Amino acid sequence: MNKIGIHYGYFTENWGTDIIPLIKKVRALGFDILEVAPGPLLAKSKQERDMIAKAANDVGIELTFSVGLGKAYDLSSEDEKIRNNGIDFTLKTFDIMKEMGAKMYSGVNVGAWNNTPQDGIKDKSAELARSVASIKEIMKVAEKYGITYAVEVVNRYEQSLLNTAEEAMEYVKMVDSPNLKVLLDTYHMNIEEDSFEKAIKQVGNEYLGHFHVGESNRKPPSINGRMPWDEITTALKAIHYEGAIVMEPFIKMGGEVGRDIKVWRDISKNATTEEMDYMAKESVQMLRDKMK
Ligand code: MN
Repeated sequence: MNKIGIHYGYFTENWGTDIIPLIKKVRALGFDILEVAPGPLLAKSKQERDMIAKAANDVGIELTFSVGLGKAYDLSSEDEKIRNNGIDFTLKTFDIMKEMGAKMYSGVNVGAWNNTPQDGIKDKSAELARSVASIKEIMKVAEKYGITYAVEVVNRYEQSLLNTAEEAMEYVKMVDSPNLKVLLDTYHMNIEEDSFEKAIKQVGNEYLGHFHVGESNRKPPSINGRMPWDEITTALKAIHYEGAIVMEPFIKMGGEVGRDIKVWRDISKNATTEEMDYMAKESVQMLRDKMK
């Protein structure tokens, strides 16, 4: 049975929020995984991180890491110093993941998030080659630590390197590491792929390492939503996908999260905390039913 998770940003306005209450909450709502961001955890003390890892372990919640690399850490940058900063940041993250017992590192991690080219381009091979060279360095440590590095395919407004499953497959073959996998996300696929089913089958069980779900407006997955959940879950079952399915709903305005995710209206329709929790609970149940 696939583990089902949720990104912690659903429950907070600020990335540096206290994680421990969220661990208990998501367990009570029926999740197996809480997805967290490396930056705020790197900013905490080892003692605080140990307490978070213990809280997760105590209630049986797995912590997965997902990043949107900042421009100062762009692994595909022309500037060698910036690429090295990106490698440093990633390896520091691996160290805290090892301490905390985490095994999945995913997200916009082949280059910087929201860093699309300033001019029209006809060729991105040089940028891709620089990214691949950085990732090859990183994968030596990922393999040693047993960390899976899942590269996220995102829409054109957030990254220029990997916008489709096809591009991601070419990329993982260029890097050629057993720990390098692909992360597909229904929110992005909805914009860029011709077919959910074909994209999932193109990546297949060998390379699909992580899977993000959300509606086209980033509401939690719902039978009342617009995504073809039957097509998506049938394709995941057809390839015998056994990895995690993590929802990334973001429906509240304000704070760092609202700013970074670009939530410019109250998509939640003024939902209370209890209503937000209920929506997440309904969503995880729907996904479990469909994945049976
Ligand atoms: Mn995602």
